[in-house]
Amino acid sequence: MAGLKQTIIRGGLESLYFSGAHAALRPFVGGVGVILTMHHVREPRPDRFQPNRLLELTPRFLARVIKLLRRSDIDLVSLDEMHRRMTEGDFSRRFVCLTFDDGYRDTLTHAYPILKDAGAPFAVYVPTGFPDRLGELWWLALEAVIAKNERVGLVIEGQNRTFDCSTIAEKRALYDDLYWWLRARPTEAEMRAIVRNLAACYHVDVASLCAQLCMDWQEIATLAADPLVTIGAHTVNHPMLAKLPEGMVRAEIDMSAAVIEAALGARPHHLSYPYGDAGSAGGREFAIARELGFKTAVTTRPGVLFRSHAEQMTALPRISLNGEYQQLRYVRVLLSGSATAMWNGFRSQQAA
Ligand SMILES: [Zn+2]
Repeated sequence: MAGLKQTIIRGGLESLYFSGAHAALRPFVGGVGVILTMHHVREPRPDRFQPNRLLELTPRFLARVIKLLRRSDIDLVSLDEMHRRMTEGDFSRRFVCLTFDDGYRDTLTHAYPILKDAGAPFAVYVPTGFPDRLGELWWLALEAVIAKNERVGLVIEGQNRTFDCSTIAEKRALYDDLYWWLRARPTEAEMRAIVRNLAACYHVDVASLCAQLCMDWQEIATLAADPLVTIGAHTVNHPMLAKLPEGMVRAEIDMSAAVIEAALGARPHHLSYPYGDAGSAGGREFAIARELGFKTAVTTRPGVLFRSHAEQMTALPRISLNGEYQQLRYVRVLLSGSATAMWNGFRSQQAA
């Protein structure tokens, strides 16, 4: 199913590019700017089972994207500058913000040298539990369990179930099914408990995934010392906020800002909602972020920025650079706004 969906998306991007439609549509759907979402930047790996590859770009591709942006008639700006342009109505030039979620170590080791070299400002949204080494990268724990086993057993609705996953195709299908089944658990606590259990049964060390992949505070401080870098909040425990009671939502966001301030000496003004889809952050979260004083907050709802987003700066859409589609022509189409306009049924002028 995932493969079919990718083929359809790729086909859509290709036809928008080769038909020239993306260029024709741009004046109508291109908006005033774009916030790009990225996660990992690292060398490609040969493994055939990589269900989270969509979250990884190669350093070479990132360098090519930055070159493309530098050649284009577009400004690379910080989140503060984006906020200024949006609130002051300064739309004389289109702009792009670069953002990285989760504070992975490769942001420092692989992305930073490229961005520093290009003088490109960027933001890193840090869930404070990750550098505090309390982070549960449960989607990677699930990947590890499926990768190293030929069968996986799980209690689902009180029943012992066993799933075969000896072939790559079975592993991919099982990952997809279990990932979305877990995301659909009614509470964050239940989802976390299931993955913790699974990891313990199959000897996957969840804590070591965090230490291995995420920056510590020292490394984050190295980035934060560079004026090109904005450190943003991304909650403490990286939960689907919409599933938490209101008090916990407020605490997750407020505490994370306080912890970043204590660690780095400055309170963050920008926030990214974990997962960021409609099921993870909605009107209640947008209002809380505003009340807590954040200048901007970003979702992962796909779209470019329009003037009207100035009215809802804590509910901004972004465009994800997906590791499955590392072609510059796709980036051109995405920046034009035509792909997301199409996916949103040309309704994106009214901000989500
Ligand atoms: Zn995240």
